[in-house]
Amino acid sequence: MFGSGETQAEADRITALWAEMANVDRTLSDAEQADVILVLEKVKSGCAALQARVTNQFATQRRAERAARGLSKAQQDIGIPSEIGLARQCSPHKGSQHLGFARALVEEMPHTLRQLETGELTEWRATILVRETACLSKEDRGTVDRELCSNPATLAGKGDNQLKAAAIALGAELDAESMVRRARKAEANRCVTSRPAPDTMAYLTALLPMKQAVTVHTTLLKDAAAVVAAGDERTRSQIMADILVERVTGLATASAVPVTVNIVISDEALLTTTPSAADVPGYGPIPADLVKQWLHDSDAMVELRRLYANPTTGALTAMESTSRCFRKGLLRMTRFRDRICRTPWCDAQIKHGDHVESAESGGATTLHNAAGLCEACNYAKEADGWSVKPDTQQPGQLHSYTITTPTGHQHRSTAPPLPLPLTLQRSGVDRVDSAA
Ligand SMILES: [Zn+2]
Repeated sequence: MFGSGETQAEADRITALWAEMANVDRTLSDAEQADVILVLEKVKSGCAALQARVTNQFATQRRAERAARGLSKAQQDIGIPSEIGLARQCSPHKGSQHLGFARALVEEMPHTLRQLETGELTEWRATILVRETACLSKEDRGTVDRELCSNPATLAGKGDNQLKAAAIALGAELDAESMVRRARKAEANRCVTSRPAPDTMAYLTALLPMKQAVTVHTTLLKDAAAVVAAGDERTRSQIMADILVERVTGLATASAVPVTVNIVISDEALLTTTPSAADVPGYGPIPADLVKQWLHDSDAMVELRRLYANPTTGALTAMESTSRCFRKGLLRMTRFRDRICRTPWCDAQIKHGDHVESAESGGATTLHNAAGLCEACNYAKEADGWSVKPDTQQPGQLHSYTITTPTGHQHRSTAPPLPLPLTLQRSGVDRVDSAA
């Protein structure tokens, strides 16, 4: 990451204050230590309040400036969450949440903001109040804000759950219908997601209306109990998981699920007994031995695609492709090279293989000018004032490109290296971070 190149007096002044903290005496009495812990918590809250003010100001100014140039309301907002995400070193999704939090505090909840500024509320407790009043009208939200936060004594000593309950109770008193609307809105967000878990496991999560979730869980419990009673040796938890897989896939047994997994693995790791890692796009590194186990498993079908990595950097140099369609092959190769969304700090899965520099701006349809991006990031880079250009690349270097946001701040995205064979790992080849 590199800065905008302009002198930022205000940021420099805050940096100087922050540097002062390094001079805090390390030999404190226990009473002084307790004081420092308390005051640092208040400083963190104060920082969160200032960050919220500046964030909201940033978004307001950006929208006003775009509106003055005649951009539509939808165009005014594009890319702002991504800019906040890049500045806070988090994903655009989190950036959007920070933006919503800032707007609610500054424009609708002045007392909560004040308590955050003075360190009476932490950022998390302010987030609870913002979240639990989100379904209310501006007026009702303002009432809850005033009732709970105009006097610091109201919330002193109350735990997070009590704080949440107080906000919900007041909200329901003011507008019971809003709670119903909120439940309906929550139902619209039902979904199924998966994410990696340790030891090559994964979580499959279903967000469901409570009635459905309880019914599914109770059914699994009941049916697993019947299998246990019939003398099955598996545990009840294992049987519940197996029944879930069997019913969703329609297969007779959970272990018969055909595995079609694209794996990035070095030839050496596949042919010898090395412990080096392989990589499953969308999941991450897994031990090479597990890949071999899958290959020997008669139920599993593993799609192996040979990828050729530069022997010193791990940069993707070529791919064995069976595709007749160039675009499809290019997209696949981009996905293998990038594996997760290429925007720094964004953990999302790749949804689009896209031109780094758009075709309209003269960008070529090549691997060098391609990047795997999630939907939000693909959308953001088309926003007004953004510019994205592939870096000049020497042969064998990891692919990189530079994002320039409307403020002139630049962020570099570097592709992750492919798994290296053991001999190269031993030789001390530096692994290169995916975001530099
Ligand atoms: Zn992304």
